Amino acid sequence: MSQQSPSPILSVVIDTPLRRRFDYLPPPAGASGLRPGMRLSVPFGKRRVIGYLVEIKDDSELPRARLKAAFEVLDSRPLWDEPTLALLLWAADYYHHAPGEVLAGAVPAGIREGAAADAWTARWRLSTAGVASVAAPPRLGARQRALLERLAAGPVDHAGLEPPERAALRGFVERGWVESFEEPSAAPPPGRGDGRAPTLTAAQQAATSAISGALDGYSAWLLHGVTGSGKTEVYLQVIAEVLARGRQALVLVPEIALTPQLLGRFRQRLAVPVVSLNSSMTDTERLAAWRAARSGAAPVVVGTRSAVFTPLPELGLIVVDEEHDSSFKQQEGFRYSARDLAVARASRLGIPVVLGSATPSLETLVNAREGRYQHLSLPERAGSAGKPRVAVVDLRRHAARDGIAQPTLAAIERHLAARGQVLVYLNRRGYAPTLFCPGCGWMAPCPACDARLTVHMGRSRLVCHHCGADEPMPYGCPKCASELRPVGQGTERVEQTLNELFPEAPLVRIDRDVIRHRGHIEKALDDISSGRARILLGTQMLAKGHDYPDVTLVAVLNADQGLFGADFRAAERLAQQIIQVAGRAGRGDRPGEVLVQTSFPEHPLLISLVHGGYEAFADGALAERKLAGWPPYSRLAVLRADAASRDEARSFLDAALEAARGLDARGVRLLGPAIAAMERRAHRYRAQVLIESAQRGPLHRLIDQWLPLIEALPGARAVRWSIDVDPIEVD
Ligand code: ADP
Ligand code: ZN
Ligand code: ZN
Repeated sequence: MSQQSPSPILSVVIDTPLRRRFDYLPPPAGASGLRPGMRLSVPFGKRRVIGYLVEIKDDSELPRARLKAAFEVLDSRPLWDEPTLALLLWAADYYHHAPGEVLAGAVPAGIREGAAADAWTARWRLSTAGVASVAAPPRLGARQRALLERLAAGPVDHAGLEPPERAALRGFVERGWVESFEEPSAAPPPGRGDGRAPTLTAAQQAATSAISGALDGYSAWLLHGVTGSGKTEVYLQVIAEVLARGRQALVLVPEIALTPQLLGRFRQRLAVPVVSLNSSMTDTERLAAWRAARSGAAPVVVGTRSAVFTPLPELGLIVVDEEHDSSFKQQEGFRYSARDLAVARASRLGIPVVLGSATPSLETLVNAREGRYQHLSLPERAGSAGKPRVAVVDLRRHAARDGIAQPTLAAIERHLAARGQVLVYLNRRGYAPTLFCPGCGWMAPCPACDARLTVHMGRSRLVCHHCGADEPMPYGCPKCASELRPVGQGTERVEQTLNELFPEAPLVRIDRDVIRHRGHIEKALDDISSGRARILLGTQMLAKGHDYPDVTLVAVLNADQGLFGADFRAAERLAQQIIQVAGRAGRGDRPGEVLVQTSFPEHPLLISLVHGGYEAFADGALAERKLAGWPPYSRLAVLRADAASRDEARSFLDAALEAARGLDARGVRLLGPAIAAMERRAHRYRAQVLIESAQRGPLHRLIDQWLPLIEALPGARAVRWSIDVDPIEVD
């Protein structure tokens, strides 16, 4: 008799904040057919929960007698292919986040709640014997006869059968007349695919052939080109090549750029189903799109950040458009970078990844300069317009009206008279950033934050842009009753000023206060492209991902917000914003003009940006980062804490540092605790410790040892704390 081998141990992760796996014995039905990536129903405390099987192993650290058995298996095949599951588990380790939350967060809500992962329909059809019986039917009841006739006409959906019909069907099953089979549920409709591709420019052609020639293995490409230079055209051509080989493509875009226009363009050009995945979809829509991607029925997925985890069995290409965009980094919970994970996924799968941007992040630029990524440039705009002329307007030397200096006003007038469109950029919404008392110097503070309230004149409210506090506008100074004065400019005020100065020029404003729905932005973009609007005014929202072919003047009203920001990335963001908006100016026969208003025209980074463009700016900024030892020349993580009092936050971090003393911290510097630039936000006091290292290895080694000690600190429950690896905001 053969020796009975002990049953395997199932290592399972569960949707909880615990950074660990749990061991189970196989369900009563046994372990055969089980594979990592399948869902199991398991006992957890007193509850029955869904777990994700991540490993099948021989032993547990716990004695078998103490292990519980899983209840049942929920999937017939894994949710993800092996490399993608491995990527998810690696990401949980890399970002030091609970693996159960990572896996559960990577699937649509329906899958988390137990819905079927496969969208298959069970159907019945006649067997050979059944077909013969149709030709020479024996005596049958009326119901059986009707069902037989239906089956003779074609397969019948199991779900569509009424109970009496099912009874009739059972009779057929016994006689061997029918057989069941499964078929994929209706696939999403294919795109039209009738859009004509333009003749590529030489640079587009070179980029397309380079990437298309490298589809058989991992490679990373920086596709560097201003908006309108034809990057999307390159993506489309490479995707067509990927599709021709029977593979799938994943395109990641910033939330704000995922408009019906973009999807429309993909569907017009690609004659296959293109599905989108984004946060504005309902759970049902997301589940349907996810299933279509996983079954292969949708060969192209266009999605925002979390779409990077979509199961795509035949994935052959990943594109990350506007790769510098900060929305690719999740800022709470599982703090991952979808851009970085896209590269990691491509490398595991052995496929190319294309990072597109007019203003690559300094990380990506260094990766390209040091040869880890291959650099492709699209230097000119498709349809060929000259480079816009960029000039600085010194706010100290010119009179300004509501923040718009005289030379800027003159330029607006000139361009409007020449029938150009004018884009005015101000990255601050509301009417004014401060409400000030000239009598006593009082400035309306947020009751919950170390911040001032922003004046929203239209609604007659004071609003905190950090915590959302919202108060009625006071009639007079609460201290001395003097009349209050709004100081500084937001888009609402500038709109009013421009309407007064240029009453003949219809203005469209785009910021979060006026654009509350997708429909609004569609309407605004339509007014712009049809030419009805002559002045476009807005925040970052205006700068992202849209093309405004008739804009001939771009005015950046306040460049100074970014020059002296507390965050080491402030200047990089400012430069990206300026270049992104500047990229909207000029087209064809109409050269563009860009004016950047500043009170610090001699700032070296601004000078290099204005005179040398983004690359020159990047040289300067990278030299500064190197000197200061900031990324990309070092690795960072940040341990953040916030609490109801300053002392609690502070002493928690002190205790955490104390706990780190005994650890192997070679090659790692722990800096802090430091209070955050805005210490109090939404009634919470915030502080942080920076963890810095020249290399990844020592940084992660330290965090791995440190986290269990932090979790065990007495303050760990009273204080809210988190670890953020590769943070993009460090203030
Ligand atoms: P990007 O993605 O870099 O912003 P797009 O691919 O969207 O650029 O191209 C901008 C505009 O130029 C689009 O209207 C596109 O149809 C058009 N376009 C792109 N490539 C060409 C080309 N080779 N010839 C003519 N028009 C082009
Ligand atoms: Zn006062
Ligand atoms: Zn506030």
